[in-house]
Amino acid sequence: MFIKVPKGTQDILPEDTPKWYYIKNIIREILTKYGYQEIRTPSFEYTELFVRGIGESTDIVTKEMFTFPDRKGRSLTLRPEGTAPVVRAYLENKMDRSSQVVKLFYIGPMFRCEKPQAGRFRQFNQFGIEVIGTKSPVVDVEVIIAALEIYKKLGLKNLEILINSVGCKRCRAIYVQKLKEFIKDKKDFLCSECVNRYEKNPLRILDCKKDNCQKIIKTAPIITDYLCQECKQHFKEVKSYLNDLKIKYYVEPRLVRGLDYYTKTSFEIVSGELGAQNAIGGGGRYDDLVEELGGKPTPAVGFAAGIERMIIVMNQQKIGWPKNKGLDIFVAKVSERNKNIAFKLLQKIRNAGLSADMDYSAKSLKSQMRIAHKIGAKYTMIIGEEEISKNMVTLRNMKTKEQKEVEVDNLINELEKGSLG
Ligand SMILES: [Zn+2]
Ligand SMILES: [Zn+2]
Repeated sequence: MFIKVPKGTQDILPEDTPKWYYIKNIIREILTKYGYQEIRTPSFEYTELFVRGIGESTDIVTKEMFTFPDRKGRSLTLRPEGTAPVVRAYLENKMDRSSQVVKLFYIGPMFRCEKPQAGRFRQFNQFGIEVIGTKSPVVDVEVIIAALEIYKKLGLKNLEILINSVGCKRCRAIYVQKLKEFIKDKKDFLCSECVNRYEKNPLRILDCKKDNCQKIIKTAPIITDYLCQECKQHFKEVKSYLNDLKIKYYVEPRLVRGLDYYTKTSFEIVSGELGAQNAIGGGGRYDDLVEELGGKPTPAVGFAAGIERMIIVMNQQKIGWPKNKGLDIFVAKVSERNKNIAFKLLQKIRNAGLSADMDYSAKSLKSQMRIAHKIGAKYTMIIGEEEISKNMVTLRNMKTKEQKEVEVDNLINELEKGSLG
């Protein structure tokens, strides 16, 4: 019996890694264009960061974190999300002293101990954007359009933007009171999780996918009716900037996100293809989080998306991936006697900046040609006994099957000016 990957994790095999390069390159390219800089934080943090940052009563903190003591007994947690670590780094590295708004992005693995299902893994990769230091509604919109541009560049179709405002501490408290009053006499019809949420985190009931809960929620009061003047104005401006840019969106007054720290704008980008779990990214404002984590009151807004889910949707939408580049040259030898020359030439080709490989076991020329074909080499360089004694090799174009003899000293020249490309 051999050992398997831990439950809920997966290997990304060589045939798939080019997809990851491709996606990450597009993310980096577009976010750089928008003026964001990449930050990399550790894969684990002190547990307290997430308890304080994400919220004690959230699903993530109560049941999804991988938490373990280090050898001195301090509690560590594999990061379940990227925003709290970025804010921690922002404060720790005194980025709050910058007079500029800080615009950061990250790409990396996150860890949540969830029930594995389609598109959900216990180690998954996220990219995220964080803008810290401005309350301007313009950046809410910038975050949305930067994310949209990434999806569009990847070729994703049928995308919709859902937006909502979850208000601020003050107006949300009033709304939550109204919501509780409304649900109070219907509590018996809620699912057991929502009964729990009713006490700890009633807003999350709006998020429940169970039919019975949905039925109750449908007629519940909506938060946008209870926004204070400031929140109302902010939401109005976000919508008007989106209108100015002719970006279609739907106001979804029941949209709340799984993390406690959101304030004002909250949004999701959904794709028709994923079924019930159709959000492929989301985010919102978190004006209280920096203060919550020990900084001065500092408004901020962010977005995060799971890359595995993006790949699933891209596959469902049959979006073509760029072709693997393949190998430029496969070096084949007629006789084992020439393996030293073969290895020397191989290195010479690599030094000239071309990709090259050879067979390291004593295979026949026929099987070497088969390997060259299988790995998609553009050329095979054949070292024949007689030719090499004249300091010549044979170059075979694997597509056209044309062959020609080339002088070794002239090899790189030939390859460069030849139809390699
Ligand atoms: Zn408010
Ligand atoms: Zn429920």
